Amino acid sequence: MAPATDVFGRALRNLRISVTDRCNLRCAYCMPEEEYVWLPRDEILNFEELSRLTDVFMELGVDKVRLTGGEPLLRRDVTRLIRLLAAKPALRDLAITTNGVLLAEQAPALKEAGLHRVTVSLDTLRPDRFLALTRRNSHAQVLEGIAAVARAGFTGTKIDTVVMRGVNDDELVDLVEFGRRAPAEVRFIEYMDVGGATRWSMEQVVGRQEILAHLAERYGAIEPLTETSTAPADRYRLPDGTVFGIIASTTAPFCADCDRSRLTADGLWYLCLYAQQGTDLRGPLRRGASTEELKALILPMWQSRRDRGAEDRLARRGQEPLISIGQLRQDPHLEMHTRGG
Ligand code: SF4
Repeated sequence: MAPATDVFGRALRNLRISVTDRCNLRCAYCMPEEEYVWLPRDEILNFEELSRLTDVFMELGVDKVRLTGGEPLLRRDVTRLIRLLAAKPALRDLAITTNGVLLAEQAPALKEAGLHRVTVSLDTLRPDRFLALTRRNSHAQVLEGIAAVARAGFTGTKIDTVVMRGVNDDELVDLVEFGRRAPAEVRFIEYMDVGGATRWSMEQVVGRQEILAHLAERYGAIEPLTETSTAPADRYRLPDGTVFGIIASTTAPFCADCDRSRLTADGLWYLCLYAQQGTDLRGPLRRGASTEELKALILPMWQSRRDRGAEDRLARRGQEPLISIGQLRQDPHLEMHTRGG
């Protein structure tokens, strides 16, 4: 069956499932505060509920699922969920985005459970910077985790780096070299003003052109790769064949091709990273809604989707963060760590 499409013809293909809002790091651009309002435990969907909702989404076109958080490896026994999802033959891509802290111990089990690919978020190769950025002393564990991914037999591994001026923008070459050795494809992400990025400012954004110019200084001519996928990263090849990506989410948003939606751990479904309202799927699910009833809830929402959050934000941008701390306290669903980045 052809996937459902929205107002702009964008297919419903890619579902990001946040399996927990908890995290074991406190990255400055995501969770800068000391205190957070957490989702109540009894409202968190269990694995059977997540599997059931995935089936419903797959009937409407989803064939890619990414598990996110918070930190998804904090969800107890997450490999059991992966096993349930990996058993769905029509799911073409099953990936996870993790901060890597718990990867060294879990990578073999993730592979064995049927996970296809791993993306690790890593913003710095320097332990002192990692501590300053994340307020946790786990840098060595993350590096061990990345090594464990390759040892466990995963391929197609990615390292996602949020580039921030004056923080880690002097590490671009080092990160490319690290990715080459890992092996993993490094993707540089422009700093975004979503969710918990309450201290964001445009001055801290290092744009795609600047990233390319910096790398070209070191490596010479950089060749853009032409691709037809809807993946957010533009990919480039260095003269020695090394491929890296840039996700120009702030200066050149990719909303026009966006096939992503997001499910929070407590079953709210968001049509866009920037969306202020989500659709409650947990309620109908727990009240015994049939697959057809759930599809009838989801399909018209997608068909009427007009969200182009990052593009709108670019057009209307002031210098202030998108969402104030007060708003975040009142509704934790506005947090990036709740809706899975
Ligand atoms: S801002 Fe919204 S529409 Fe644009 S790429 Fe992100 S999730 Fe998709």
